[in-house]
Parts: sequence; C-alpha cells; structure tokens
Amino acid sequence: MNLIFLSLFLSATFSFAHSIHYIEDIPLRPQSVGHESLYEMEGEITEEFLKKTPLEIVKVGSDSEYILRQRAIEVDLENLKKKKVQEFISDMFITMKIAGGVGLAAPQVGRGTRIFVMKHDKRDITVINPTIIYDEASGKKRSFEGCLSFPRWRNKVVSRYKKVHLEFYNRTGKQETNVYTGFQAVVVQHEYDHLEGILMTDY
Ligand SMILES: [Zn+2]
Repeated sequence: MNLIFLSLFLSATFSFAHSIHYIEDIPLRPQSVGHESLYEMEGEITEEFLKKTPLEIVKVGSDSEYILRQRAIEVDLENLKKKKVQEFISDMFITMKIAGGVGLAAPQVGRGTRIFVMKHDKRDITVINPTIIYDEASGKKRSFEGCLSFPRWRNKVVSRYKKVHLEFYNRTGKQETNVYTGFQAVVVQHEYDHLEGILMTDY
C-alpha cells in the first residue's frame, strides 16, 4: 500500500516538475506576436455582474459585433445640450466602472458615435470627436491589453506609441488638447481604435 502511494507521489512530483520546466521554456516577452498568441484570463467579472451595467456591452462573437467593426460618426456638438446625450455619457462612465475598465468607447455599447470615456489621474475624461497625432519619435512599447468587448477579458500583447497628442471636445463642448504618455497613451490609442472599427486583435 505504501509502495503504491509512494509511486503515485513520485509520478505526481515528476509531472509537476516537468510542467514547471515547460513553463520556463516559454519566453516571458514574446518577440513576435500574431493572432494565435492570445491569452485568456479568467476574470472575476462574471456575465451576471456585467448585466447590471446601465448599458449593455457589445461582445465580439455576438449578433451586434458588426457595430465594433464600423467607423463611428462625428457627434453634432449641439446635441451635447440634450439631457439624453448627457445621461448617455454618464451611463458610459458607470458602465466602465462597474465592468472594471479604464476606458470605454461608444461602439462598445452599441452606439456608432465618436465618443469614448476614460479615467486619467482619478479624473473622468470624456473624449468627443477626437483627432489623434501619434508621436512617432517617441517609439513604441509592447504591453498587455484587455478589452471589455471580449469574453472574459481576453488579453493581447500590442505595440503602441509611447506618446500621443489628442485634440477633442469634452462633454460641455469645450475643446481640449492633451499629451498622453505611458499607460494612458495605450488607453487613448486602444479607445481611439474602437472609433475606427479596429480591435486589439487586429495587431
Ligand atoms: Zn476595447
């Protein structure tokens, strides 16, 4: 009996050691990342939890996926005076926060308009009709990105510019210009892409 137990223990130890060896063989920083190199992450955010968001998030693979693939259209700034438009922007922030995201674009909640919201330095930023200038001299950096439009927050390594300039209108219709670097530059590029119908898996 003891022998059988010992042999089971040894084989378990061997396979455990073997799997550790295998993990060490995987480079921590992949040199080239194609569409096959997607990483699934088990999120703590369940589908049931996401249903509580005021706006429904459009998922890749759903019937509404086509909205994620369209170029969003410019917002008529006159419409910012309308209560329902302001409520929609507020609902975008609530949806982003409940879902645990750091950015959310209107096409992700089924509206093909050029609006995205994001958190920056603990402030809520509304970006409307943005113009982006990629600072090519800043170079690019690879980092893991997640996206609320993918089931279970599928993660992907994407190469983005380290610095971007953004011109946009805020929710009061005032024009703003800002420079974003580091993590925030990644968020801005990811969300801007949503307005162009581009997903992180396209890289
Ligand atoms: Zn996204």
